[in-house]
Amino acid sequence: MPAWIRRAAVSIAKGHRVTLDQMLRRPITSLYPEEPVPHFPGFRSIPVLKANEETGKLNCTACGLCARSCPPQIIFVESVVGDDGRRKQWPAFFNLDLSRCMVCNLCVEACPFDALEMSADNELSAYDVRDLFFNMEELAALWKTAPAVRIAGGQKR
Ligand code: SF4
Ligand code: SF4
Repeated sequence: MPAWIRRAAVSIAKGHRVTLDQMLRRPITSLYPEEPVPHFPGFRSIPVLKANEETGKLNCTACGLCARSCPPQIIFVESVVGDDGRRKQWPAFFNLDLSRCMVCNLCVEACPFDALEMSADNELSAYDVRDLFFNMEELAALWKTAPAVRIAGGQKR
């Protein structure tokens, strides 16, 4: 038998073996959203605002470093201005436009006050792009309710 026929027969047999393997394998079906699909380790979706576990006060001092380090410039933060005209070390507002977030984690790394953490919430999609604009209260609430991922340690909170 010529060598090329032998090679072709082996190749066809290998291809059919893969097909048969797949035909006999049990399908993996996830009943999402009734049954949540587990995240891969290190999965991240949105930066959320952390608070002191005891006092509930946000760790953010409105220093603005996260906003400056964000490549698409989608963090908007301003500090409270007191009656004396001086800036205080807490935010008047902290807004984030998730529709343009690259989930790069740079804002978390830039924060010197451990005030940000990447959430692993993968159910933040919306029909209206305006619903992807999160304010301070929403980002703080997401930290409390959504699972988070510590990138450095790769462990879930
Ligand atoms: S994860 Fe990246 S793109 Fe998203 S807000 Fe932080 S720095 Fe900006
Ligand atoms: S989250 Fe961190 S880096 Fe950003 S303004 Fe607040 S304290 Fe500064």
